[in-house]
Amino acid sequence: MRIDIMTLFPAMCTAVLNESIIGRARAAGKVTINCVDIRDYTPDKHRRVDDKPYGGGMGMVMQAEPIYRCFQSLCETVGQTPHLLYMTPQGKLLTQERVKALAEMEHIAILCGHYEGVDERVIEALQPEEISVGDYVLTGGELPALIVADSIARLLPGVLSDETCFTEESHYASLLEYPQYTHPAEWQGRAVPEVLLSGHHAKVDEWRRRASLQRTYERRPELLEKAALTEKDKIYLSTLSTDTK
Ligand code: SAM
Repeated sequence: MRIDIMTLFPAMCTAVLNESIIGRARAAGKVTINCVDIRDYTPDKHRRVDDKPYGGGMGMVMQAEPIYRCFQSLCETVGQTPHLLYMTPQGKLLTQERVKALAEMEHIAILCGHYEGVDERVIEALQPEEISVGDYVLTGGELPALIVADSIARLLPGVLSDETCFTEESHYASLLEYPQYTHPAEWQGRAVPEVLLSGHHAKVDEWRRRASLQRTYERRPELLEKAALTEKDKIYLSTLSTDTK
């Protein structure tokens, strides 16, 4: 899979993309993630890429032409038109379900806005999928683009050591994950739940399933509506609801 991040601040992205799991996955060729500098595509001889908003008001707006040229050049270089995302607080909220679907794609390009955002006409021309990472406003689309790239990359084959690293995690199956513990078995008078030390895999699995159901029930009950629940899960959940009555 290939992801191209179109940004005015590529160094912000490469700093993150060269580190840790994603850095290793890129080095091993499990995923290609490039950063493209939109400024390289400005027709302005002073390399200007933004201007004041028509109608007045604060801040600057990213101009349409450099973004358009940047995307066209990307399409020509790769020989295909990638699925284009525009990171914006006005977009649809990113979910694990959407991340899974994006991870199935061959090539994605992500447009990062900055300042007051981008000239609306380039959005009309390129028709990107508009995605938000939350109902708050950041200074630029670089952090949101990294969130998208990271959440996709970790689902790709060979990026994590084992598929269960993500299939058991929060949101994958519309449940929150069970609590995790590591050494030592007792810390500041707090003991790890006995069953996790037992070596009894079936009991550990059952404890984890129940803990996951309980957490989801307590913290994000609306997720349970989409979760694939067994009869046993439903019975357990019904005991939780009677306990809290
Ligand atoms: N004026 C815009 C508005 O009110 O909708 C906000 C612009 S914001 C300061 C600058 C850029 O940061 C946006 O173009 C977008 O790319 C990015 N951004 C900010 N918050 C975001 C969020 N919650 N999700 C995705 N991108 C975001």
